[in-house]
Amino acid sequence: MNKQAKISEIFESLQGEGIYLGFRQVFIRFFGCNLQCAFCDTQLKSFQEYSVDQVRDQILKFKDYHSICLTGGEPLLQAEFIESLLDAIKDLKKKIYLETNGTLFKELERVIDRLDIISMDFKLPSVTKNGDHWSAHEEFLKKSIAKDVFIKIVIGPEVVKTEIERSIEIIKGLRPEARIVLQPSWLDFNRELLFLMESVCNLFLKGGILHVEIMPQAHKLAQVK
Ligand code: SF4
Repeated sequence: MNKQAKISEIFESLQGEGIYLGFRQVFIRFFGCNLQCAFCDTQLKSFQEYSVDQVRDQILKFKDYHSICLTGGEPLLQAEFIESLLDAIKDLKKKIYLETNGTLFKELERVIDRLDIISMDFKLPSVTKNGDHWSAHEEFLKKSIAKDVFIKIVIGPEVVKTEIERSIEIIKGLRPEARIVLQPSWLDFNRELLFLMESVCNLFLKGGILHVEIMPQAHKLAQVK
């Protein structure tokens, strides 16, 4: 068993995106990712090796928060460690929130029973410029069917309509009730970009997916971590 994990940082802050925006969390940022999205802002270059006990000790320094957020990078690259960690902190009775790019469905199986909330990305090839992940997203969504999952889709000016339609088709077939967060890849809004976001939103509504919302990254607007 791998008892060490590569971790970039452990800190407490408010969640800056998605439907748990503003909830206080302890963040464990795992190092490394299996993707290379064009808009990535979290591929940190440094890490420290932590044992399960060391991560637990760090978590114990924080009080009065909603949940523990496993983020990255892609945390599921270190699923074996996460499995041990979640066993070791079970007694804290904190909700476990996973932020994931939604591609490592086999690794998800190792830890899914211990998760409470999943923030899953759908990666659009036109925006990420990193190939397509449709079948991986589909498998991931199937495996997380019993969990509280919301789906985050980053939208950029280069977005392609057929990719939105494909996302709708997959989500509608598996989780039509899922909440969808459309997250603009830019922060400087203008009428044209707002119109684009609204038109993407309308495609979801017309496709029968009603829980769709447009939500920028608040921590970037506020310029905090
Ligand atoms: S999945 Fe997330 S961490 Fe990985 S490259 Fe894309 S944006 Fe960055």
